[in-house]
This record gives sequence, structure tokens and C-alpha cells, in this order.
Amino acid sequence: MPSTTLPFATTPTHSTTTASDPSGSLSGARAKHSIVIVGGGTAGWMTALLMAQQWREQVQISLIESPDIGIIGVGEGSTPSLKRFFSQLGIADSEWMARCNATYKVSIRFRDWSPGTGIASYSHPFISQLDQVSELAFYQNCFARRQGLDVTTLPDKFLFNGYLADAGLSPVTPPHFPFRIEYGYHFDSALLGQFLKERAIALGVVHLPTTMQQVNLHPDGRIASVVCQDALDVHGELFVDCTGFRAELLQKTLGVKFDAFKANLLNDAAVVLPTSALSTLPPETRATALSTGWAWQIPLQHRTGNGYVYSRDFLSADAAETELRAHLGLLDSDIQARHLQMNVGQVRQH
Ligand SMILES: Cc1cc2nc3c(=O)[nH]c(=O)nc-3n(C[C@H](O)[C@H](O)[C@H](O)COP(=O)(O)OP(=O)(O)OC[C@H]3O[C@@H](n4cnc5c(N)ncnc54)[C@H](O)[C@@H]3O)c2cc1C
Repeated sequence: MPSTTLPFATTPTHSTTTASDPSGSLSGARAKHSIVIVGGGTAGWMTALLMAQQWREQVQISLIESPDIGIIGVGEGSTPSLKRFFSQLGIADSEWMARCNATYKVSIRFRDWSPGTGIASYSHPFISQLDQVSELAFYQNCFARRQGLDVTTLPDKFLFNGYLADAGLSPVTPPHFPFRIEYGYHFDSALLGQFLKERAIALGVVHLPTTMQQVNLHPDGRIASVVCQDALDVHGELFVDCTGFRAELLQKTLGVKFDAFKANLLNDAAVVLPTSALSTLPPETRATALSTGWAWQIPLQHRTGNGYVYSRDFLSADAAETELRAHLGLLDSDIQARHLQMNVGQVRQH
């Protein structure tokens, strides 16, 4: 991993107060910079693991995770960024995929997104090194089509992973294969969180299973410490907000503005309904257009993740659940559905 500069301008001044060391003293130990991560979802444990891998000699990392506030737990499909994340940490597919019931993903197939065109589905395969020539041809055809020419612009006809997806093949190549094939994964996000947590703790991250209740600020407005249940006061030099939609530090404490994308991205809710595993696991996520949004199908080793992302302006939660059940052929099933709401947008400053 290339070395990265620590995000501190000064020498260490604080230590992290932990449950086992409530005084915050570093008796005998060389002072380390202190980083406090609030939130133990995917974002929190990924952050902890990356930072611990990079800086464990110089920093003390603590992660506060509420046992009472759950995680979102529906992020089950990745792009190739997740492969790069694991590569950066030196973690092989064989180390984590079986534990997280993961499968390979080379593409996303969109079904029924182009009504009236005669195109029942099209794909978004991940672009690989192998596609250097055909990728250009794809862009040229897209340009030509925008000028009115009737040429093919279906990405899966140009990109290698489109052919793998059609053939139901995984992207694993023999040793010394001269090209890099890009791929992502489908995975059980709760199990991945558990895996990341174990790795991070093994690298020295201090896990504090408690709920943050209050934030103390320095006079200049920076965060000084966060106070948790049982009056545990956790000091730090750098705080990372991984509390998900709650944005406890960024928005609630520091008042960073949130830019909503609601005007353009209409979908703001989802209903989730898992089913049993498919007998043949496709190496692609499937996204099917429904009446006011789209339904995903994510093939895992032990089950299939399904959900319907829709807009509350156009559909009630009950109607969305009924539509998803009908789509899955589960109208008479008693499998429980889970409903979620989303803030779609981004904070102005991280
Ligand atoms: C419908 C839907 C589908 C999605 N699909 C995908 C997908 O296919 N692929 C993908 O990559 N992403 C997907 N996402 C996004 C992904 O789920 C989220 O980005 C990710 O789960 C967010 O993780 P997080 O760690 O930021 O937040 P969360 O999972 O919400 O975790 C927040 C953490 O903060 C803790 N916390 C909160 N408040 C406090 C407090 N006061 N004190 C202590 N701890 C606290 C909680 O206990 C929890 O541990 C999807 C999201 C939605 C809504």
C-alpha cells in the first residue's frame, strides 16, 4: 500500500478515552494520534480497517457502535471499487467471499427500462483492460446514434464482461493471464461488516459498543469529545462521522448542509424481501423497472436479495410491497418485508 500522510498538523496531544482506560492516560506507551469513528456500519468498519492498516503504528483508533441503533444492511451489490478496497488491504477473495456468502458480479442487467423500443433488457458490464479497443467503438457508436444513425449501442455487445454475464461465467482468470478483468461482488452486508470488524479489531482498533449521546466542542468549533452512555467521554483529534443517515456529527453537530437530489432522483423509499438462493447463480445484478421505480435481484450463495426502490410521492408503502410481492410471485407468502426510507443527496462538505 502506498504511504499516505497522516491527517494531523501537530504532534499528538490527546489520547482516546476507552472503557478499559477511562482516564485517557497512555501510561508508559508512546503518545499516538487519536481517531474516533462514530458508527459501526459498513462505512465505519471500512474506514477503521483502512486507517488501521495504514497508520496503526502512529494512531489509536476507536470505533463507537450503538448496540441499539441498527445498520441499514441492504448494501449487497458492489462495483469494482470493493475489489480495489480488498486489494489495497491485501485480502484475497478466498479469505472473505465464502464467509460473506458472496458471489461475483460482472454486470448489471436492466430489464423493461426501455418500453416501446423492442429492447427487453440491456446491460452495464464493468469495463476491463481487455475492452480498450471495443470501448472506443462503443463511444463512437453512441456519438453516431446521437447524430441520428441507426447503429448498435448496447454496451454488452462491446464489452467482455457482457459476454461473461450472458454465458453465466465468473471473471476468475488463470494465473499469468495478461489482462486485468474488472469485477465487483454481491455479498451479505451484515456478514461483511462482521468480517471487517474482526480484521479491524485484530489490527488494534478499540471497539466501544455504546451509544453516543452528546458532543463537546472546542471553543473554535472543532469536536473535542463525544459523550456516550455511562458518561464515557471519548476524546480524539480526528472524528469520522459514520452514523449513516443520522449524520450525528456532520449535520446535527457541525451543521453541514445537505443538498437533496429529490428534484432529479425521485425514489426515496424501498421495500426489501429476501427469497431463497437461485439454483444457478448469475454473475450479474438484475434491475427490473416496475410502476414507479425498479426492483433489484442480487444473487447470494445462501439467499437472493430482492427489493423495490420507489418514490413515496407516487406510491404508498403498502402498494409498493404488494407490487414487489406480485413481481416475485409471493402474494400468498408470509415472508416478512422490511421498509426503508432514504435521504437522497449529499452533504456539502465531508
Ligand atoms: C434501499 C437501499 C439499497 C442499497 N443498495 C446498495 C447496494 O446494492 N450496494 C451498496 O454498496 N450500497 C447500497 N446501499 C447503500 C448502503 O446500504 C449504505 O451506503 C450503507 O449501508 C451505509 O452504511 P453506513 O455505515 O454509512 O450506515 P449504517 O449502516 O446506517 O450504519 C450506521 C452506524 O452508526 C451507528 N450509530 C448511529 N447513531 C449512533 C450513535 N448516536 N451512537 C453510536 N453509534 C451510532 C449505528 O449503530 C450503525 O452502526 C443501499 C441503500 C439503500 C437504502
